[in-house]
Amino acid sequence: MEKRTKLVHGGTKRSQWGELSEAIFLTQGFAYDSAEQAEARFIQSAPDEFIYARYGNPTVRMFEERIAGLEGTEDAFATASGMAAVNGALMSMLRAGDHVVAARALFGSCLYILEEILPRYGVEVSFVDGADLDQWRAAVQPGTKAVFFESMANPTLELVDIEGVSSIARSVGAKVLIDNVFSTPIYSNAVAQGADVVIYSATKHIDGQGRTLGGVILGSREFIRKTVEPFLKHTGGSMSPFTAWVMLKGLETMDLRVRAQTASAGAIAEALENHPKVRQVRYPGAPSHPQYDLAMRQLGAGGTMVAIDLHGGKEAAFRFLNALEVVLISNNLGDAKSIATHPATTTHQRLTDDQRASLGIGDGLIRLSVGIEDPRDLVADILNALELI
Ligand SMILES: *Cc1c(COP(=O)(O)O)cnc(C)c1O
Repeated sequence: MEKRTKLVHGGTKRSQWGELSEAIFLTQGFAYDSAEQAEARFIQSAPDEFIYARYGNPTVRMFEERIAGLEGTEDAFATASGMAAVNGALMSMLRAGDHVVAARALFGSCLYILEEILPRYGVEVSFVDGADLDQWRAAVQPGTKAVFFESMANPTLELVDIEGVSSIARSVGAKVLIDNVFSTPIYSNAVAQGADVVIYSATKHIDGQGRTLGGVILGSREFIRKTVEPFLKHTGGSMSPFTAWVMLKGLETMDLRVRAQTASAGAIAEALENHPKVRQVRYPGAPSHPQYDLAMRQLGAGGTMVAIDLHGGKEAAFRFLNALEVVLISNNLGDAKSIATHPATTTHQRLTDDQRASLGIGDGLIRLSVGIEDPRDLVADILNALELI
């Protein structure tokens, strides 16, 4: 089946009632027919046999099967948030003495795990410029356990070459873990390109309508059930059944949303190219993006995010944000509603000036998450706000 069909039907299991829409099994526990059955389930439960919702739940299982079918992995484990997924994937496989190489341009909470938490437990982490394959080559060692990166960095929209980094990782036997949020499951081909483990914050494009937090870890059955599941089911990061139901409904419409958002992002990037108030437009789907060829090879599309660097620094950026009428000021992304963010004062405020400068996050940088509104209204709103700077 093609991806769009899998998004609608994948993983669905119906009860005896034959309900059309997926059921929410809002239950923590499960009653057994007999003491013998309870005993047997605790020894070894089949994929469709459940014990306790922290371990698994029918609605959560439907979500895991649907997203695994889409990404092309054997299995998946759904989590309470994107960060529970990132933390669960890393903490479940690493131990004291291990070495990890990570790209420096990371979502703030991912950076916290790699920079603050893992070293506390004796894991050594080396940071590299993710776009520079020579730095990856120099940083890996025999015995490097994992490499970790965002395939498209937040908020600069710089890409990491998945095939390039994966072959370097493979040469030393390291697992490749990718936070793939900005690439979206729609354009992802990460497993074919060399990823062992793909992680999403489902809070973003998978929900797509700003309702619930969630996340998912995708990988081989061996990794998910033998490494990830024991860690997450005992430490409490599992997804709730209600959230899984929201995410299942999100997956149904994700292809339509993400493709419409991408088309609008392209239209916005084009309208801003050479605009006198704009220093630089960064959109991986625009030929002006330095990694345009890589974006086309890796994703075949530019995605739903556009970064614009305004002349005039923070003052200009704030005047622009405050003049927007359709686009909302927020820090979510992948939402049906278009959202503008000023990373330097919000999502990346915690970083030092030097760190921000080295990541290319200037005071004039605005991150746009393009929604599903009519692109004519979005372009008009953005051009109008630029006039009012
Ligand atoms: C949002 C995000 C996360 C964290 O996800 P939550 O669902 O907010 O916990 C991790 N990585 C990236 C790239 C994100 O955009």
